[in-house]
Amino acid sequence: MPFLTEPEPQRGVPLFVLPGIRRVVARNPSVMTYQGTNTYLIEVNGALAVIDPGPKDMQHVREVLEAAGSTPIRHIVLTHTHSDHWGAAAALAQATGAPIAGYKISEKPGFSADIPLDHGGTVAGLKALHTPGHAADHLCFEHFLPDGTKILFSGDHVMSWSSSIVSPPDGDMLHYYRSLELLLARDDVFYLGGHGPLLAEPRILVRELLEHRQFRERTILAELEQQDWVVAALSAKLYDKTDPFLKAAAQRNVLAHMLKLKAEGFVEEHEPDTTPHPDTLIISPPPGVQDESGGEFATMRADALRRFGMVAMPA
Ligand SMILES: [Zn+2]
Repeated sequence: MPFLTEPEPQRGVPLFVLPGIRRVVARNPSVMTYQGTNTYLIEVNGALAVIDPGPKDMQHVREVLEAAGSTPIRHIVLTHTHSDHWGAAAALAQATGAPIAGYKISEKPGFSADIPLDHGGTVAGLKALHTPGHAADHLCFEHFLPDGTKILFSGDHVMSWSSSIVSPPDGDMLHYYRSLELLLARDDVFYLGGHGPLLAEPRILVRELLEHRQFRERTILAELEQQDWVVAALSAKLYDKTDPFLKAAAQRNVLAHMLKLKAEGFVEEHEPDTTPHPDTLIISPPPGVQDESGGEFATMRADALRRFGMVAMPA
């Protein structure tokens, strides 16, 4: 895959990206977030819209406010409500008085956007595209540069540095395919994603992402034609990952493919395995991290033992 890399960006300062657009990279680098979450400041008519306030980190909030300087932040806009994008929203809203815009149905319990957006809705000159797949409430935003160049804030749906995790039930592989096809039919010149550097000629990558998933799906079907598979075991066979987070992410992707094939009637689910696969034992909260989302890690361990097989053909 033609992914991009970049050296560690300067922290705590606004980085010029494109005319009228600055980027502040949050201090949350990891194998899942690359150099950190991108917070974008977009200047339109003497005011700023902030896309993705970033993780819950007061230092990052201060740095975003400093990056804005004397230009008022009038809108806070969310691509989706995963913590590394949404966490700072409340603090930034409190500091600026700006309303928060996001998809009309939030996946974050207890949170709803001040400005609920639907597919095609606009806020601060940005046009929302509903692009579920990575997250059910994911939006991309179309924007025009001063010279008329059409660009897309692509969130975590399409990123220059890596493919996206599709983790059920918030993530949905069937929706992800459709949301990639939606972008393929467009003619955006650049993508600015939730992590990683600017992506030029974005449709080349979008097409490869889609083809890669289709290839993966054919591989999974070929394996299922031989025998039933438990998610953790098939994931270990198909993905060459050693990092525990990447192993877990690979399992989420395999599960998402299984559920897509099940929804399409190719695959059925059988009784789960009762003996833990070695790879399921690594799925636990890292030290110092609480399982804040109510048993998410326990669900992941159970999901890794779910077993799938081809739908039996009538004799
Ligand atoms: Zn993210």
